[in-house]
Amino acid sequence: MLDRVRSHLGWKIFLSYLFVIISGAAVLILAAELAIPTSFDRHMAGMSEMMGGMMESTPGRPNLSSSLFTSYRTAVREAVTWAALAAVLVAGLVSLLISRRVIRPVKEMMQASQHIAKGNYQERVSIPGDPLSADELSQLAISFNRMAEQLEKTETKRRQLIGDVTHELRTPLTTIKGSLEGLVDGVLTQEPGTYEQIHREAERLSRLVDDLQQISRVEAEAYSLDPQPVPVRDLLDTVRERLEIQFREKGVDLEFHIPGDLPPALADDQRMEQVLINIIGNALQYTPQGENVRVSVTRQKGALKFSVQDNGIGIAPEHLAHIFTRFYRVDKSRSRASGGSGIGLTIAKHLVEAHGGTIQAESPGPDQGSTFTFTLPTAG
Ligand code: ADP
Repeated sequence: MLDRVRSHLGWKIFLSYLFVIISGAAVLILAAELAIPTSFDRHMAGMSEMMGGMMESTPGRPNLSSSLFTSYRTAVREAVTWAALAAVLVAGLVSLLISRRVIRPVKEMMQASQHIAKGNYQERVSIPGDPLSADELSQLAISFNRMAEQLEKTETKRRQLIGDVTHELRTPLTTIKGSLEGLVDGVLTQEPGTYEQIHREAERLSRLVDDLQQISRVEAEAYSLDPQPVPVRDLLDTVRERLEIQFREKGVDLEFHIPGDLPPALADDQRMEQVLINIIGNALQYTPQGENVRVSVTRQKGALKFSVQDNGIGIAPEHLAHIFTRFYRVDKSRSRASGGSGIGLTIAKHLVEAHGGTIQAESPGPDQGSTFTFTLPTAG
């Protein structure tokens, strides 16, 4: 019984009410016992004076004042006892109602959390009371549902990531395995071309592992960002140096249009170099020989707007919304052959947003080129 009381919130509420009632009644009785005799005597003396000693005791007539006092005291005790009993009854009913209102949602949350712990992330609880005048319990239920929603999203992402990674790993592994089996069985001849293909696939695997490491670090925000004033021209010159050879080898021009009076950007230069290399590198990859890639920077309400425009293969409208999603590639076979795993833009988006900027892609359609724009805050 004691354990039941200890573990049941309803009983605890009832006992706390009972305690208040008993103390109230005890204080009332004590006060009555202490205060009533003196005040009663005073009032009786006053009345006796007014009635000319009628109330005084005489031989053969008991003292009227003392019998009045005894009756009065009994009446007060009776009244207090009945009032206390009625209060206990009301307390029982009220604590039952309150405990139901409190316990039901708490129990519901307890059960939901147990379901969530078992992996049922779609579990939600009902919000008690009127959501407009939300008390602490309703707020707890709202926060609980938010937490469950977040857990569900994280779980969906985790599943997607495992699915994506498995898919990405399978292709090169199948090729490597197939080639090696062909060599062992003698179906494939031991010539440099076969080994080169195995080597290419192994390289792609190792690039994929690097990409995965990068994306997991960026998505978990496990990297440091050190924004400093960075002159735009210096930033772009570094990027040009790093991509110069690839542009020259492919025969594509890289043009910069940077006004002389631009304020410096407030950015982590190494992270922004990575963003620019991902975007400009893509523009180079999807632009045919003899064409050009133009990078321009303009000033826009306390920010700098970078645009990377190419006249390459373009992007169809149905793909535009997805290209920042990890592992998304418009033409899977084409970019897989070129080594792209569809995470360059995902990383770029994370890094730009971490700087407080936004990024977007536009394209009039296939074969009509693409423009990638992103913003960065200016220093000061
Ligand atoms: P990848 O490593 O495959 O290039 P990204 O995340 O950098 O991955 O790009 C995702 C996809 O967006 C690419 O596979 C490609 O289909 C498309 N894309 C990116 N940049 C361009 C561009 N400049 N022109 C056309 N398509 C592009």
